[in-house]
Amino acid sequence: MSDYINSYYAYNADTSVPYPALNEDLQADVCVMGGGFTGLSSALHLAQAGYKVVLLEANRIGFGATGRNGGQIVNSYSRDVDTIAKKYGPEMGKAMGQMMFEGGDIIRTLIRDHQIDCDHVHGGAFVALNHKQLKGLEEHQKLWQAYGNDDMELLDKSALSKIVKSDRYTGGLTDNKSGHIQPLKLALGEAKAITSLGGQVFEQSPITKVEKGKRVTVHTAKGSVSADYLVVGANAYLSHVLPELMKRSMPCGTQIITTEVLGEQTCREMLPANYCVEDCNYLLDYYRTTADHRLLYGGGVVYGARDPDDIERLIRPKMEKTFPQLKGTKIDFAWTGNFLLTVSRLPEFGRLDNNIYYMQGYSGHGVTSTHLAGKVVSEAIKGQAERFDVFSKLPHLPMLGGRALQIPFTALGASYYNLRDMLGI
Ligand SMILES: Cc1cc2nc3c(=O)[nH]c(=O)nc-3n(C[C@H](O)[C@H](O)[C@H](O)COP(=O)(O)OP(=O)(O)OC[C@H]3O[C@@H](n4cnc5c(N)ncnc54)[C@H](O)[C@@H]3O)c2cc1C
Repeated sequence: MSDYINSYYAYNADTSVPYPALNEDLQADVCVMGGGFTGLSSALHLAQAGYKVVLLEANRIGFGATGRNGGQIVNSYSRDVDTIAKKYGPEMGKAMGQMMFEGGDIIRTLIRDHQIDCDHVHGGAFVALNHKQLKGLEEHQKLWQAYGNDDMELLDKSALSKIVKSDRYTGGLTDNKSGHIQPLKLALGEAKAITSLGGQVFEQSPITKVEKGKRVTVHTAKGSVSADYLVVGANAYLSHVLPELMKRSMPCGTQIITTEVLGEQTCREMLPANYCVEDCNYLLDYYRTTADHRLLYGGGVVYGARDPDDIERLIRPKMEKTFPQLKGTKIDFAWTGNFLLTVSRLPEFGRLDNNIYYMQGYSGHGVTSTHLAGKVVSEAIKGQAERFDVFSKLPHLPMLGGRALQIPFTALGASYYNLRDMLGI
């Protein structure tokens, strides 16, 4: 059990009043494991539908990737629908394509309906480092247009300067259905919305044992919850309590730094439209400015989720390459967080014993997919499982040789793709 890590988000959000730890035996319709976006969206959609919901978080709300991420509302999945259609057939591509912009809509609806103050800003951009990537963005625009997103603009090098002022890029693609948020503030707002609807939220309450059966009973150090259903949203932070969920994925770390306050003018000189940005590399850089006018810059992947020794040393060179004017700028915050990678890079949803649902493995792009996950699991529990089963039918290969052996293989694969990105092939 831990408190928040020292991130910009924890510094910038009001985390002063914790939720209680579970200290009793409760009955519920649905118990939710994990207070990240997966668990919060599930609990919130179920509470909205009138279910009696209890959410148990091992640490604090948003302790995991949810309270540490880049805050970028990126549409679609870590693999796009053309790849999905090629690998799993046109019907699967179409079914997933029909849901690929919904996660962002869910976030915007929750912010509006529950008046969540989370520094929400509209607009994001993908940027290309070479002509091959720009060509890829052109295809990407056509694909997303075919699924109903007309709010995108392809920009050449000179036009891109209205979004990003950096010499690094060949061009880019804006997406006005994207945007950014302070993710910990959003998570805390969602937790508050759950309790306002009668749901119960507990922190510092790790589930240590899951008793399967007609009703599921989960145990914590000082209490238990017995429920018709358990929804598992523990993602990369899942402990050995459900080892069967750890076979087909691997936790990976990615790191973020945040500068000192730079002032609005300096921020707009780098990012005139205040969009969030991610590049098209396999090991991508992602960045944006914050409401109090800092640059928040992320990148890098550590396979197996070991904490790197010196995060600033890893990320600062990337930031200074993009914005050389920030050479020597003071970094106020540096942190790491874990996401969960699957072999296919597509989310892994499924059931254990018909009354335990799990959603995990968003492979680095989870802000929107987690919100969609919560909505589709609530539909499944209400008896309409068609959309949940689109995801649960995606085949997932086991990590051959287990996680220990997978780390070097995955890192080797990533180095190969990284080299291709650098050479522009
Ligand atoms: C540094 C970083 C940057 C990222 N940037 C972006 C981005 O800009 N855009 C984007 O789309 N995606 C991004 N991602 C990915 C995204 O953050 C994740 O996909 C998403 O937050 C996963 O949410 P989750 O709820 O599934 O898992 P988490 O947020 O990790 O939550 C899991 C929770 O489960 C709890 N838990 C674990 N075990 C137990 C237990 N036994 N009992 C009770 N609770 C338990 C944990 O304490 C944790 O709070 C980023 C990820 C990282 C790490």
